[in-house]
Amino acid sequence: KIEIEKKPEWFKVKLPGGENYREVKAELKKNKLWTVCEEAACPNLSECWAAKTATIMILGGTCTRACKFCHVDTGNPGGKLDLDEISNAAKMAQVMNLKYLVVTSVDRDDLEDYGASHFANVVKAIKQSNPSTLVETLVPDFNGSQKHMHTLAQSSPFVIAQNVETVERLTYDVRDRRAGYQQTLKCLEFYKNHYPDISTKTSLMVGLGETVDELIATMKDLRAIDVDIITFGQYLRPTKRHLPVLEYYHPSTFEMLKDKAYEMGFKFVASGPLVRSSYKAADYMEHLKAQ
Ligand code: SF4
Ligand code: SF4
Repeated sequence: KIEIEKKPEWFKVKLPGGENYREVKAELKKNKLWTVCEEAACPNLSECWAAKTATIMILGGTCTRACKFCHVDTGNPGGKLDLDEISNAAKMAQVMNLKYLVVTSVDRDDLEDYGASHFANVVKAIKQSNPSTLVETLVPDFNGSQKHMHTLAQSSPFVIAQNVETVERLTYDVRDRRAGYQQTLKCLEFYKNHYPDISTKTSLMVGLGETVDELIATMKDLRAIDVDIITFGQYLRPTKRHLPVLEYYHPSTFEMLKDKAYEMGFKFVASGPLVRSSYKAADYMEHLKAQ
């Protein structure tokens, strides 16, 4: 396999800065809160925070799964839960005056309900104390349990996302072996069938060896179950122990994928080298308002 180490010039980004950024950062520090945006040194931070959008991670920092693209620690958290995450999430929305908060988590196969009720409690707490903040949940598959998917959906997030991450052929090599392409499709279909008012969303990384035809076939599978939102971003290798980058897509290919996705009926599409699942997620809300 060929690995391309040097990133093309379109990856150069501005460092976050500005008065507002420093104020928000200081306020978060004072309240002992942290965002994925900062932890992951996300290149979109300036843009997202200016648009009052941020991402937090719950259910701890240790994942029971080991996807081959992901930098999160793998292990067995032994059933431990930090209940402070519930009030902290609500506080975060207040401190940052957020319009849109993306809540994501590690997978917790060690918990009886895979973390579904804790996830739902976090959503409810944010909505209760910040009624104007929209909450997007980027959830694990809860092992495909319909009972646990109901628990999450009944907290009424604005969007429920679950990532297919890659095309079907590469799923086994890219994601943890307990995750499955068909399982993710089934979960997204379940939410759409039972909770049609909640938008569904998925994200893919590109550059892992897939073809554009396979990406288009994936989009067809997703449209067949009425997924509303899709994002495409470049896979970047977190460390040498992770999967290599096999291709850097040119920005024009991302544009082509975006056009294709809109043509196929997705309601909202984000596609670009630096796009992450939560990139400018609040734009979807603006998009719906404009309709
Ligand atoms: Fe990372 Fe999510 Fe995979 Fe866990 S399940 S290793 S957090 S991508
Ligand atoms: Fe935060 Fe996601 Fe935006 Fe990155 S893309 S700054 S993680 S909200």
